[in-house]
Amino acid sequence: MKDIKIIKADKLKAKPADIKNVRFGSVFTDHMLVMDYRDGKWGEIRIEPYAPIDLDPANATLHYGQAIFDGLKAYKTVDGYAAVFRPYDHLKRFNNSAKILDIPEFDVDYVAEGLFKLIDIEKEWIPSAPGSSLYIRPFAFAMDNQLGVTVGKEYKMMIILSPVSAYYSNGFAPVKIMVEDKYVRAVIGGLGEAKTPANYAASLHAGLIAHDKGYDQVLWLDGVHRQYIEEVGSMNILFKIKGEIVTPALCGSILSGITRKTVLEVAKSWGVPVSERRISIDEVCAAYDNGDLEEVFGSGTAAVISPVGELLYKDKKMVVNGGKIGEFSRKMFDFINGLHTGEVKDDFGYLKKVVKF
Ligand SMILES: *Cc1c(COP(=O)(O)O)cnc(C)c1O
Repeated sequence: MKDIKIIKADKLKAKPADIKNVRFGSVFTDHMLVMDYRDGKWGEIRIEPYAPIDLDPANATLHYGQAIFDGLKAYKTVDGYAAVFRPYDHLKRFNNSAKILDIPEFDVDYVAEGLFKLIDIEKEWIPSAPGSSLYIRPFAFAMDNQLGVTVGKEYKMMIILSPVSAYYSNGFAPVKIMVEDKYVRAVIGGLGEAKTPANYAASLHAGLIAHDKGYDQVLWLDGVHRQYIEEVGSMNILFKIKGEIVTPALCGSILSGITRKTVLEVAKSWGVPVSERRISIDEVCAAYDNGDLEEVFGSGTAAVISPVGELLYKDKKMVVNGGKIGEFSRKMFDFINGLHTGEVKDDFGYLKKVVKF
C-alpha cells in the first residue's frame, strides 16, 4: 500500500466550549485529508492543516457539477475508543457514486487507512455529549480548468471533519413531511443512486415551498407516475404497516442508505418482518384510512431515525400514531445510538474501533 504523508498544523484551533451551541457543519478540525488524481492515477494521501483550496474560475465542477460526497460519523465509545460506524460500507458507496459520475474509482482500503489516520490525529475533537459525534465528510470533484463539457482528467478527493451535536437539540421529536406531487428529484436512469450535489440542487426549491407551508421536509414520489414512494431529501423512508416494516426497494433512483440497511438488518435480527418493495402513496393513504399505518420514520446518518408525526399529500393530512413517536421508531433509535457508543453490544461488526484514548 502507498504511504500517507502527514503535515501537522503549527497552531491548533480552540475546540467548541459547548457542542450544543454548534450549528451542524459549521466548525472544522485542524487537519484534512487530500488525494489528487493526475496522469491517470490517484496519488498519495496527504494529511495537511485544514485550509481553503485554490480554485480557478473555470474549474469544471463549478460549472458542470461532476462531484460526489458521503457522510459518516466517529464516536467516543464507553470503553474509551475513537470508533467509526460502518466505514467500509460508506467508502464503498462513495466509490459507487464515483462510478456513476465517471470519477475514477479509488482503493477503498487505502482511503480507509487514511481516514483512520486522520481520526487518530483529530480524536480529541470527538465530542462526548449524548448523541454528539464527529461528522466525517469525504468528497471528490473534477479539477480541470476548462469550459468544454467533458469528463474530467484531474480530480481532488478530500475528507474534512466537523464536530456535531445531537440532531435533536430539543429531544427526540417527530417531523412533519410534505409529499411532493409537482417537483421531482431524480428518475430511474438518472443520478438518484449517487450521493452527488446535483440531487440536492434539484431538491432546494421544493424544500423551500414545504418550509413556507410549515413542513420540515419533502417526501419525493417517482418522477414518471408521481405515485411510488422514493425517499426524503436526505433520508430514506420506512413505514410500519400491520407490524411489517416496508420501505421502497433500491430501484435506481434512490440512495442506498447505510442507516436504512442497518435498520433492516437490526429489525430482521429482532424477528420483525421487513419488506423492500414498490409502495405507492395510494397504498399509504389506504393503510392510513384503515388504521393499518402504525409508524412512519426516516433513516439517515445525520438524525439516525426521524419519526414522522404528520404526512401531507395534496389536501390529505395524515397524523401518524397520534403525532407521537412510535414504539418501534424509539426502540430502533435507542438501539442504533447504543451501537455507536458501544453501550449496545455490536454483534453485527458495524463499529470500527480506530484508536484508544
Ligand atoms: C445520505 C443520504 C441518505 C441517507 O443515507 P445514510 O447512509 O443512511 O446516511 C438518504 N438519501 C439521500 C438522498 C442521501 O443523500
